[in-house]
Amino acid sequence: MRWESGRRSTNIEDRRGMGGGAMIGGGGIGMLILVLIISFITGANPLDLLQQTDTGGAPSESVPTGAPAANDPQAQMVASVLGSTEDVWRQVFGQSGSRYEEPVLVLFDGSVRSACGMASSAVGPFYCPGDHKLYLDLSFFRELAQRFGAPGEFAQAYVVAHEVGHHVQTLLGTSEQVNQARARASEVQGNQLSVMQELQADCYAGVWGNHAARKDWLEEGDVEDGLRAAAAIGDDRLQKQSQGYVAPESFTHGSAEQRQRWLLRGLKTGDIRQCDTFNAGGQ
Ligand SMILES: [Zn+2]
Repeated sequence: MRWESGRRSTNIEDRRGMGGGAMIGGGGIGMLILVLIISFITGANPLDLLQQTDTGGAPSESVPTGAPAANDPQAQMVASVLGSTEDVWRQVFGQSGSRYEEPVLVLFDGSVRSACGMASSAVGPFYCPGDHKLYLDLSFFRELAQRFGAPGEFAQAYVVAHEVGHHVQTLLGTSEQVNQARARASEVQGNQLSVMQELQADCYAGVWGNHAARKDWLEEGDVEDGLRAAAAIGDDRLQKQSQGYVAPESFTHGSAEQRQRWLLRGLKTGDIRQCDTFNAGGQ
């Protein structure tokens, strides 16, 4: 994937090497260093900042433990893909006269605190509607390649674009509608709604991919990489891997075939109107 020339998003929050939710009780040497760094950057009086943090300010500050260099190629690629999604969605929202509010992407390792609670890397990349942030541990890409057999930069970009898709659903009110419908629905119906929401995020990822292709980002094999990733994280494959059998009524993300089909639809059309998975019933 030819992402190098792309504009890097500035909406990246690099929390790698910061120990996730490690609490230090609002004090300690780590906090002191952090405050000094902040005041160095902002020119604020460190004592004022310390008082602020000691009285109910950020409760979850953590000790920096040597974050990787922020310029590592994977982080660069993610920043470039995120920048590209911003351009695409700004344009799409602009066409209907609305403004695209850009999400923030948090890089972390191990565990992370979000408005949706504490999460460990084991849950995989996720989007939190409560703070409009995407959370990504880059080690997931290694897992995607090795455990799920889906290597390639476009596979990784698809993962980012899918989470951005959830942000778009939040901005458009779709996520809220799904939540309300789920509250009234049976478990099986609720799972079906979840599948449609996930497939729509796949389709939105495809819409981004369509624009990336028009920017000449895609190279031979990229689309196949993305489709392989979409299939690899289909519920049927995951269930088969973890429990040895497939139970379609408990799907929450869709089958491999469904995920591929909706990603491809977005990729081919570049049109979000083609992503109405709810009326299509996932078909
Ligand atoms: Zn999702």
